[in-house]
Amino acid sequence: MKNKLSSLSISVILALLLWSVYLLNSPHGEDSADAPLSEFSASRALKTVQKMSEKPHFVGSENHEVVANYLIKELQNLGLQPSLQEGFTMTEKGTLVKSKNIIASIKGTVPTNKALLLLSHYDSAPHSYSYGASDDASGVATILESVRAFLHAQTKHKNDIVILFTDAEELGLNGAALFVTQHQIAKKVGLVLNLEARGSSGPGYMLMETTEGNSQMIDTFSDGGVTYPVGNSLMYSIYKMLPNDTDLTVFREKEKIQGFNFAFIDSHFNYHTQQDTFQHLDPNTLAHQGGYLFPLLNYFSNSDLSQLKSNQDKVYFNAPFYMVKYPFSWVIPMAIFGFILFGIFLFLGIGKKIFHLKEVIQSFIPFLGSLFTASLITFLGWKIIKLGYPHYDEILQGFTYNGHDYVIGIILFSVASCFWFYRNHNKKNSEIVLQIPVLFIWLLVNLAIAFFLKGAAFLIIPVLASIIVLGYFILTQKTNPYLNLVMSVPALIILVPLITMFPVGLGLKILVGSAILTVLCFGLLLPLFNSFQRKGIWATAFMVLGLVYVVKAHQSSEFVNGAGKPNSLVYILNADNNQANWATYDSNLDEWTKTYLGENPKIATPLNTNKLYSKYGSEYTFMAKAPLKTIPKPSIEFVTDSLSGNKHFYKIKITPNRKVNRYDVFTNEKASIAHLVANGAKALDIKSNIISKKSNKLLSYYVVDNIPLTLEFSIPQNQKLEFDLVESSFDLMSNTQFKMAPRKNWMLSKPFVLTDAVIIQQKIVAPIK
Ligand SMILES: [Zn+2]
Repeated sequence: MKNKLSSLSISVILALLLWSVYLLNSPHGEDSADAPLSEFSASRALKTVQKMSEKPHFVGSENHEVVANYLIKELQNLGLQPSLQEGFTMTEKGTLVKSKNIIASIKGTVPTNKALLLLSHYDSAPHSYSYGASDDASGVATILESVRAFLHAQTKHKNDIVILFTDAEELGLNGAALFVTQHQIAKKVGLVLNLEARGSSGPGYMLMETTEGNSQMIDTFSDGGVTYPVGNSLMYSIYKMLPNDTDLTVFREKEKIQGFNFAFIDSHFNYHTQQDTFQHLDPNTLAHQGGYLFPLLNYFSNSDLSQLKSNQDKVYFNAPFYMVKYPFSWVIPMAIFGFILFGIFLFLGIGKKIFHLKEVIQSFIPFLGSLFTASLITFLGWKIIKLGYPHYDEILQGFTYNGHDYVIGIILFSVASCFWFYRNHNKKNSEIVLQIPVLFIWLLVNLAIAFFLKGAAFLIIPVLASIIVLGYFILTQKTNPYLNLVMSVPALIILVPLITMFPVGLGLKILVGSAILTVLCFGLLLPLFNSFQRKGIWATAFMVLGLVYVVKAHQSSEFVNGAGKPNSLVYILNADNNQANWATYDSNLDEWTKTYLGENPKIATPLNTNKLYSKYGSEYTFMAKAPLKTIPKPSIEFVTDSLSGNKHFYKIKITPNRKVNRYDVFTNEKASIAHLVANGAKALDIKSNIISKKSNKLLSYYVVDNIPLTLEFSIPQNQKLEFDLVESSFDLMSNTQFKMAPRKNWMLSKPFVLTDAVIIQQKIVAPIK
């Protein structure tokens, strides 16, 4: 056997390996229209998505009712008897809404067993005309198609199966809260499988929501027969640290019920916009979601759901077709083992005079140089891009339509800077000494991980593989390119998906993370790359390729139909001083917003005292005087106004005099509002009766059927009652009083903020007695 591989053959093999890693992390599953009726078919599920997403169906819209009725029919067609659960809930964040959950049960053969709950929400996001195809018709459709196939196959099952389509998830998880706190079946639930979306493509990721450790959950998941699991304990650890907001979170927090989320997150730019259509949903992604739910429905409907809690955690990650997992207790020993092994080989290498300490120290230069240069190019590059394309700021979630091109570009530049710094290290076997600083830094990183972020501890595996390469050379003083190739596989399987997953998950602002990870990955592959001849040419080639992607990104940097510019506009009438303004959240005005705001709008600071909730904390940017319209303001009635002890007890009824969608009530920050009950609902999770306020917002009420808002509360006698009321209707674009110009086809209504609304602001002050 010729013990040499040319740079070309190594690159071809590496490219093939990378391609397989890419395929394994792409969404896939069964997607055939003529799949047997006892199997899940994404094509069949897609029909349900299409039906549900014909029109936006947010809470309070006409079409919300249409979708609810359609789902009831679909469940009946499966031979089930769906029931409705309706009621007001007010979350701890002060979101008040009357939601309507749709519930159906399938009895198992052992009635005393814990039940399996299949969960998705059927409402779409408000304000921004989201068709809600991915979020979350895809989830509902996956459940309906899985249950249909399950029933068709007449699968025997011990556990009850509960299907729950929640309402008002988009507003404040109210439907889930209503079910968990008030429905009797909730107590019986042993496990939840929740389907969610935060984009319209990409693989479905498995994210666990556990009360304590994940050990039992990951073990039982592995037994569930999912062919293409994608997920790892790093995501699990990060997810546990962040304040989450899926329906499943409510189950864990309120009833200590655990579960799995299956969620896809790519093409984030379509999320909560009019582009969340059935055409934009990747059918492979839907197939992937079915690839989770269908086998797990079969598995968990028969397994013991009372044994899923554990106080142990496990490290896990998806290798091809398999979840690798081991206990957290191995993490520190593995990191120490890595250090010891590395130390022994280093010591032997210096002892055998294979290399000198001086050489080792010098070889830090190219590695740190690559790390620094790749990070700097990315950091400055992104800053310059943001200056050159200021309109990217309108995409609040931070992943632009051409974001994938930037990610690839950054990876290519990072590889180029590695080749450049290593271009003069062609001495025979110099890769061995060059590997030492890489391994040293990797081991330090893993030591930190072992103490502070155990979920990421699987990153030690590619490092151990690389230490084996080092050891082989120290012991035999030969390099073996075949061994090098095999030992590069863990780095490719584990690190490469993370490089792209981070910016897709967290936005382009963390591109630097991808650059650093690329260099760290390159470092582990040095035994392969360093044998390359003419690394300067490789560096240039990667640089040019990187530039090609930047040019490609430039060519798709403009907003077009299907990749629209999010813009926003509201009409605000101050009913106290009878002044009206247009206002926007945009930084870059366009021809449409300028029609109303003019060329020289004012800075909107005066409008930002009572901040409406928005996901990214957006504030109004610009305002301009607007024509006065006669819009009927709400009637405010003081139903009760009584004194008891040193407290004033009030009951106020606010009745809309037009079709409205939302009320926001603000108090002054010092007011000690207590005993708050709104439309009969007390805020969940308030232990004392005192409302603690992080902002001056008391509550947000999303109106269904124009039901008035009734507030009951107490306030200390020495405090003056003063509320600011903000009443919104989401009808600016259809309101005949305004005759708004439609948006251009390259624009869309901005998600995550209240836009396209007619707003009335007014003060509520207690009458003087
Ligand atoms: Zn959702």
